Amino acid sequence: MEMKPEDLDVIKLLGEGAAGTVRKVLHKPTRLIMAKKTIGTDPNPKIQRQILRELSFQKTCNSPYIVSFYGAFLEDGDTTLSLCMEYCEAGSLEDIYKRARDLGGIIGEPVLGRIAESVCKGLVYLHQQRVIHRDIKPSNILVTRKGEIKLCDFGVSGELINSIAKTFTGTKYYMAPERIQGAPYAVQSDIWSLGLTLIEVSQNHPALPPPGQPQLSIIELLDLIVRQPVPVIQGSHISKECRNFVAVCLIKNPRDRPGPGRMLEHPFIRKWEDVPMDVAGWVKDVWNWK
Ligand code: ADP
Ligand code: MG
Repeated sequence: MEMKPEDLDVIKLLGEGAAGTVRKVLHKPTRLIMAKKTIGTDPNPKIQRQILRELSFQKTCNSPYIVSFYGAFLEDGDTTLSLCMEYCEAGSLEDIYKRARDLGGIIGEPVLGRIAESVCKGLVYLHQQRVIHRDIKPSNILVTRKGEIKLCDFGVSGELINSIAKTFTGTKYYMAPERIQGAPYAVQSDIWSLGLTLIEVSQNHPALPPPGQPQLSIIELLDLIVRQPVPVIQGSHISKECRNFVAVCLIKNPRDRPGPGRMLEHPFIRKWEDVPMDVAGWVKDVWNWK
């Protein structure tokens, strides 16, 4: 089905990122609730058509670990690009860990295991479609009411990546050392970002800059990523398998860092993958749903 701006009613604002704004909307013809992301777009119609063409590929993605994509269109006199995707009721891992922090709790290792497994499976799927995610971080990992953990905001459109990069002012905390040194993106770079994501979700605080060292300039931060010892996942509730998994994600040399397929064979994943876990019940408690 073709997505059209007039078929959508805005329900509420969900969040604002560096590149866009996300709203909860109702798609009237199907009565489906969706998330609509709007991004300012390049004014060149040729580039706009190319972006829409590249994005349409995402409609064919079909994986329980990937947020479904319904379609994209231009609006507001072709000045903004809107992307319609599956609405994930429980929000992002960033929303969830901040909520857990406000409730005075922490996200335990069993859920971390499920997150690591879901992200690696999503990355394996994307890689089979020749897509590298490029922006793994807690706010791009979404959770549904059913407790499914899914990836969003991945780099399907080269032109969209270019046009956002021109205006991009967001964080570079999750960038792998090889990217800072100018190497091309590889699937291993996403694994680095997964390591930082697991630390952040587990300690309710970004892994970088390290706590107690908040006033880093961007140069100091990049130097820290490339030259200083990597952060480690802390806590007496963390098993040695989990600690090792994160350490392997944060191997600085991308040639020695495994891709998502091999990470799925790690003892940390093995430890939790067959343990029944009620992620749906967990998010229900987190958000105090009836
Ligand atoms: P960022 O990922 O940098 O936070 P975004 O513009 O991609 O910026 O997203 C902003 C916020 O909107 C996210 O942090 C999340 O809370 C929310 N969000 C994004 N996509 C969805 C979705 N499909 N379902 C529910 N919430 C979403
Ligand atoms: Mg995002």
